Amino acid sequence: MPASINIYNDTLSEQFIDNAWVPSKSETHRPVFDPYREIRIAEVTCGDPADVDAAVVAARRALPGWRTTPEAKRGEYLQAIAAGLESRRQPLAELSSRNNGKPLAEAYQDLDDAIACYRYYAKAAVALGQRQGKVEDAGQPDLEARHYWDAIGVVGLITPWNFPLVSSAWKLAPALAAGCTVVFKPSEITPLPEQMLAEVVMEAGLPSGVFNLLLGDGEGIGAPLSRHPGIDKLSFTGSNPVGEAVMRAASQGVRPVSLELGGKSPIIVTEDADLELARDLVMAGICYNAGQMCSATSRLLVHERLADDLYAAIDTAMAALHLGDPLAAETDMGPLVSAAQRDRVQAYVALAAEEELYSETPLLARPKRGFFVVPRLYRKVPTTSRLWQEEIFGPLLCARRVSDDAEAVDLANDSDFGLAATVVAGDPDHAESIARRLEVGNVWCNSEQLAPPQGSWGGMKCSGIGRELGDSGLDAYLELKRITRPIKY
Ligand code: NAD
Repeated sequence: MPASINIYNDTLSEQFIDNAWVPSKSETHRPVFDPYREIRIAEVTCGDPADVDAAVVAARRALPGWRTTPEAKRGEYLQAIAAGLESRRQPLAELSSRNNGKPLAEAYQDLDDAIACYRYYAKAAVALGQRQGKVEDAGQPDLEARHYWDAIGVVGLITPWNFPLVSSAWKLAPALAAGCTVVFKPSEITPLPEQMLAEVVMEAGLPSGVFNLLLGDGEGIGAPLSRHPGIDKLSFTGSNPVGEAVMRAASQGVRPVSLELGGKSPIIVTEDADLELARDLVMAGICYNAGQMCSATSRLLVHERLADDLYAAIDTAMAALHLGDPLAAETDMGPLVSAAQRDRVQAYVALAAEEELYSETPLLARPKRGFFVVPRLYRKVPTTSRLWQEEIFGPLLCARRVSDDAEAVDLANDSDFGLAATVVAGDPDHAESIARRLEVGNVWCNSEQLAPPQGSWGGMKCSGIGRELGDSGLDAYLELKRITRPIKY
């Protein structure tokens, strides 16, 4: 392996297979950017289907040994990964901030979430060992039934760029705890923090072939991995079109998928809500990570009596944000991850102008460099507008006034997506009564967006299939086997 990866101006041409860095079969590379300084900081291989073949062979070879390793021992390896991440907390957070553009404080939060996830599944592995052979009702007095959980097998894990180290932890930690061996493909846009993960895994002493990391893009690695017959399950986080392609590929051989896809999540503010709390939750829901969150609450549904005051408070808060160097302590919002992502979001700004949509937000001065989009609140957005319906993945908030809770719920549910929602109401019971009527996987009532490892994450409708985190996140990598036999007296 490269002894210690020289992050800046390095050419990443190697894949991590069988606990060794081996040259990719691809000769093509693509640039990796620092989105604030708008400079290349590395080149990464595009990857090649032959790399996928080699990684799958390694993972298959390692599977029998890993899936029969005692669960508690697998838990020890996960604790060692958590410790390895902890010991690199600062360089990893800085690298993530530099490569992704997110403020350093957010990168630290990501890292802490990832560490907590590995620790949680280390304990879950121990608990899995304790529940093996659980006695269940056999349905007849002379029979007994036991339940055992086996690893699904070799799994292909594919992640996007918006939460490096976190999206991967949500897949890797439960997959390894379950006894699966993995071929992991991070986003080609933010490969640097994930590449360091290979060093951590190696240091943790995982047996060869259990964890394989393939750098590359969708064509070189993602698609070949999805259709590879040696992969028993795919877990994908990313956009809907690619998620659908992964699902089509997985249908060959009837292989299961977990999909974490897009969102267009609502935030509902009721008549009795606290204005300051509402403002803070709206701001966090659209400005954190510059709005590049699948769970961004990008549709604001506010009661008409509160609307003008809330709009004014949001405009003031947006105008007070400090946009700048993600590594600087005073920065509230960094650039978007890439020029392409900035252009994609700016296209929605242009569309809003075409549709004569109304934004009174005082426009912040854009820093002289960096792929920035300044935050905006659009009022009175028609439900037919693409801004209202589509996932923008940037700091553009669309709002509508509603006359009561029923109208808010109807508008909130009028979406192809169903990932998440926030409800801000005068008391938590009122908020929860609304939450119960929303067609989404997660609702935060008078609370910031939290996704602790013991929770659950995933969406209804087009937002995906399955749940990550918690018990469901582990079950996603397990097959349940029921053994029924006569009772031996
Ligand atoms: P993307 O779909 O473009 O890419 C995601 C990953 O898929 C990348 O690693 C990419 O290289 C790979 N890929 C590309 N083409 C592929 C193919 N044909 N086959 C297999 N893999 C392929 O998404 P993105 O732009 O990286 O991320 C943004 C999207 O991710 C947004 O839509 C967002 O909502 C979604 N997302 C969802 C969640 C969630 O939990 N629901 C979390 C984060 C991001």
